This record gives sequence, structure tokens and C-alpha cells, in this order.
Amino acid sequence: MDVNPPEYNRDLLAQLDREQERILDESEWMRRDDEAEAFAKRAERELRASLGGMIPANAVRAIFPANTDPLAPQEPSRRAQFAQHLATMAEGAVLDRERLVTEPAVAEPPANGRETLSTRACAACRGGCCRAGGEHAYLTEETIARSLEAHPDWTLAQVMDSYLRHIPAVTYLNSCIYHAATGCGLPRELRSSTCNRYQCVKLIKLRAILPENNPSPVLALMFDRGQWARTALLDESGVRILAEEMPRVLPE
Ligand code: SF4
Ligand code: SF4
Repeated sequence: MDVNPPEYNRDLLAQLDREQERILDESEWMRRDDEAEAFAKRAERELRASLGGMIPANAVRAIFPANTDPLAPQEPSRRAQFAQHLATMAEGAVLDRERLVTEPAVAEPPANGRETLSTRACAACRGGCCRAGGEHAYLTEETIARSLEAHPDWTLAQVMDSYLRHIPAVTYLNSCIYHAATGCGLPRELRSSTCNRYQCVKLIKLRAILPENNPSPVLALMFDRGQWARTALLDESGVRILAEEMPRVLPE
């Protein structure tokens, strides 16, 4: 392989940092919060008037990001790019095993109302932050080292195959290679720590005001790149889309 793995890894990490900054910028576009709040207040008033008692009186209003990109068949060239990235990371994970600090094992989040509502919020957003996953899905040498440790009976080829097998046939346009209509195609145990831990600023803010148990429902006003995209009611039983901008579809 003509790419030096440590150097490649450094480049990747620098790229991830840049992408994290971009995501932060995107999810923080509402530094113009006054404008967004005014919009959200008006939308809530109108929805409460038109939907009667469908929105519980104790629902908490929150502003959230959203992904509105359409779904599209997976491009074969993306698969090849990802396979190359995976091979580079796998080679580094084996060659640098002594040096690497393996990512921590994946802990399931505690089962409580706040975690459930957080999951609902990300489902309603449809993975705005996954857009930065590209053809690397944030997988690093450390992630592959963790997968090898978790499956001592697997060969490196089997570990790599398990990543390749989970690539969905249809994904959101301009997003991560694993970003499918049902969410992430990778099981949590195979995902990078970045993916398992990341929370956007809006999610962090909401979580800060929700109690762990029996949280109030959330009326989420969701925006993609500054444009209102959908409004959803989130509670522990599920997600109800109350209003939505016409979803974008690919031209025939
Ligand atoms: S953390 Fe959740 S709510 Fe925030 S951008 Fe990602 S998927 Fe959307
Ligand atoms: S691997 Fe999954 S969680 Fe991570 S960016 Fe891709 S779709 Fe999102």
C-alpha cells in the first residue's frame, strides 16, 4: 500500500476535526436564536390552535436540526472508497497494535426516559450529523482494534467483511455510507466512538433540561440549513410528525 498508515491516520483525524467544526457550525446556525424562537413560538401557537388537544399542555418546545436529503441507491464507487479506507485502518490496527489505545467498549446508554427521548429526537432529525460520515464513517485504527479485541476468534478478514456486509443498498444522498432510512446500518458495537458518543449542541441543550425519568413530551421544531423542515411531537411512546416541508426527491 502506498499510503503510510500513521500519516494517513493523522490526515483523517485532521479531516474529522474539520468536519466536526462544520457540523457544529451547521447545527449552530441558529446563533440567530431570536429569529428561530419567534418562528417556533408562532408555529407552536398555530399547531395548538389547529390540532386541538393533540399537543399536551406540558410539551417542551425545542429547536432541532434536520436532514432533508433524499434517499438514493448506493454508488459502487463509494463502496470501493470505503473499502480502501477500511483496509488502511485495518492494516494500521494490526501493525500498530502495541501503540494503539483501543477505543473503550461500547456501553449501552441507561434505559430511562431521557435516553428514549434523545433517541426519538435523532430519529425525527433523521441523522443530520451523519452527513459528515462520508466514505470513512469515522472508523479509525482504534475502532478496528476494538472490534478485533471484541472478537478474538475472528480473523482480520472476517472483521473487515462484517463492516462491508452492513453497507446499505440505499442511503441518504450526501451522507455517510451507512446512513439508511432506518438509521445507521452499523450495529453500535462496530461503530466508532465518535458515532457512539456524539451529541449535537441542540441535543445537549435539550438533555440538560429533561429529567431522567418521566420527561415531558417535546415539541421539536426542526430546521435544515436554516429552513424549517418538520415539526415533530416526541414522547416515550414514539415520534409523531405533525407537519413537514415537502420532502426532496431525486429527479427521474
Ligand atoms: S445528534 Fe441527533 S439531533 Fe443532533 S444532528 Fe445528530 S441525529 Fe440530529
Ligand atoms: S457510521 Fe452510522 S452513526 Fe456514524 S456517521 Fe455513519 S450513519 Fe452516522
